[in-house]
Amino acid sequence: KKVADRYLKQEVLGQGTYGVVFKATDTKTGETVAIKKIRIGKQKEGVNITALREIKMLKELKHPHIILLIDAFPHKQNLHLVFEFMETDLEGVIRDSNVFFSPADVKSYLLMTLKGLAYCHEKRVLHRDMKPNNLLIGPDGQLKLADFGLARIFGSPDRKFTHQVFARWYRAPELLFGAKRYGAAVDVWAAGCVFAELLLRRPFLQVKKNLSPIFVSLDLILSGNSDIDQLSKIFTAFGTPKADQWPDMKNLPDYVEYQFVPAPSLPSLFPTVSEDALDLLSKMFTYDPKARISVTQALEHRYFTSAPSPTDPSKLPKPI
Ligand code: ADP
Repeated sequence: KKVADRYLKQEVLGQGTYGVVFKATDTKTGETVAIKKIRIGKQKEGVNITALREIKMLKELKHPHIILLIDAFPHKQNLHLVFEFMETDLEGVIRDSNVFFSPADVKSYLLMTLKGLAYCHEKRVLHRDMKPNNLLIGPDGQLKLADFGLARIFGSPDRKFTHQVFARWYRAPELLFGAKRYGAAVDVWAAGCVFAELLLRRPFLQVKKNLSPIFVSLDLILSGNSDIDQLSKIFTAFGTPKADQWPDMKNLPDYVEYQFVPAPSLPSLFPTVSEDALDLLSKMFTYDPKARISVTQALEHRYFTSAPSPTDPSKLPKPI
């Protein structure tokens, strides 16, 4: 059966944060697409006008490293977002132990991620939910950012759906401290986490379940705030931030004082990684969002001009 008289529905691809995603054929173009169904049934007035305005803006985001939003329409209490179909995602590639990455491959993946981000940041659109499974990979090895702007339109995913715990590993410290006003720097932090994950082949700031936080008061632990575990994890990796490192920190809504822990040296966390890569990484992981490197500055970092040069996308390793 056709959806909107145009899309022939095929199998379900997976359950996403906002709803089910299925494969379909666009009978108008003959192309394979991925359709994301988002439940909006409960809202009496249908999709709110702000959401529609934002979706219109997403349709105008056109860049080689951004997933193209082909179409968007309401259908039977669901909003349907039609995207170009992609074969796999970066999470699948990172997790596949048969795939070997060279430093040049890592550089290529990071370069494509930052180029996509730079384009959106120029248009003042934040991603807010960057993680390897939102970085989709096409047949030609091209990496494209998916789910752009959805977090802003449909609300922060990990507040609504508990299965979305992974997203927390990529959250910038200002978000974890409850910042209401934040900017492009949150995407830079998340991209830094992806960079680190490419280098380590496992999530860098992964909080294992039931790891008890050791740096904060019992009250906070009993309140069950798991952002605390994530902050503990970050501070263990980079040291507890001092006031002069991040002056605005103590004014953030959920700020609490953490026990001071010193930072281990970055090379000890990333042995075998080049000095250029570590310098860029440390700039992406700057605590103060105002001091954190921007995407444009990151693209100008010497890491991208020093040897080895980034692998041509068509020559990147593929999962078998
Ligand atoms: P999440 O919200 O958890 O990031 P998504 O809603 O993005 O998940 O996607 C759910 C599933 O659909 C995933 O398995 C993903 O690989 C697949 N998927 C999403 N977008 C596309 C696409 N454009 N092409 C192919 N598969 C996709």
